[in-house]
Amino acid sequence: MLKSRNYDFLIVGAGLFGSVFAHEATARGKRCLVIDRRNHIGGNVYTENIHGINVHKYGAHIFHTSNRNVWSYINQFAEFNNFINSPIAVYGNEIYNMPFNMNTFSKMWGVRTPAEARAKIAEQIEELGITNPANLEEQALSLVGHDVYEKLIKGYTEKQWGRDCRDLPAFIIKRLPLRFTYDNNYFNDKFQGIPVGGYTPIIAKLLKGCEVLLNTDYFDFITANPKISNKIVYTGMIDEYFNFCLGHLQYRSVRFETEELDVDNYQGNAVFNYTAREVPFTRIIEHKHFEFGTQPTTVISREYPLEWKPGIEPYYPINDEQNGKLYVEYAKLAQNEKGVIFGGRLGQYKYYDMDKVIEAALCVVKQEFKE
Ligand code: UDP
Repeated sequence: MLKSRNYDFLIVGAGLFGSVFAHEATARGKRCLVIDRRNHIGGNVYTENIHGINVHKYGAHIFHTSNRNVWSYINQFAEFNNFINSPIAVYGNEIYNMPFNMNTFSKMWGVRTPAEARAKIAEQIEELGITNPANLEEQALSLVGHDVYEKLIKGYTEKQWGRDCRDLPAFIIKRLPLRFTYDNNYFNDKFQGIPVGGYTPIIAKLLKGCEVLLNTDYFDFITANPKISNKIVYTGMIDEYFNFCLGHLQYRSVRFETEELDVDNYQGNAVFNYTAREVPFTRIIEHKHFEFGTQPTTVISREYPLEWKPGIEPYYPINDEQNGKLYVEYAKLAQNEKGVIFGGRLGQYKYYDMDKVIEAALCVVKQEFKE
């Protein structure tokens, strides 16, 4: 039963964007109603405690940022541990450190010094003769040469995105550092860690003082309650909001196969990437390692990427040219949609990391409250 018939804000989606906005609006004396289709808060950052292990139900979420304000902001709601993401890549029987660094190069080519690694890469790049990389394949080849590309990038990327590397935008691969030091830290950011106790308690704190309705579909709800709020913050799929009137934007989805195993340590690291095309999954996550867990059992998740279709969860916007153009058209409709703010990965069709979502939500708060 709702406490009111009229709220200042109806916030659609109890993920990070919606929850930060709800928290800030509530702190400014606004009445917020947050609804979510799912049966839990947190969106894709949701973690579930299974026998003491915080399981990242919608894939690994490692918080990293170089924005001091965002870092201070999120630290109000949780204590972060000193986890550093250092994935291992498996290609057949070979094991490599990620991201691409001196450990990777020395294992691949037997080189020892940065100069030797640079020379090896330069030699491979020169043979290729790419001057102006136009897609992910050319970008990757012209950064690391063909050995690294073939073993660590091509198969993984084609599984992850379900598209040929020549049909993907170059920026996706630029997310990964390339360095000539023996440093396996996946991120270049200043601050990094995992919230002790998982992400769900952060969201619960953010939503304190708001009303939350779960298992509630926006479209049914707004039809039944058209005057429920003065404004709406919508964090669902932007094309769905407009009833796909201009056509479907494409998304990538992931299917997780999660199991609890009766061993205390399955793979010795939180993230193992399976980079060969023949292995059907992209990653195995062993959740306990995010919090240095010492439980007697372990929980692992295999990630199988697949194309989004209605009825399953969208995860990644596919920011290629065709979808980019279509999004621009939806964004125009969104601009003319008075009283509705679109935010988050799905509302803005953007490959946002968590820190960028918080940054964007705080920016919208400033605009909304004219601060
Ligand atoms: N990637 C790769 N090999 C790997 C890991 C990542 O080629 O072992 C590429 C792949 O194209 C992927 C992109 O780098 O989509 C970004 O990876 P990231 O780990 O940032 O993806 P996310 O964690 O967002 O799924």
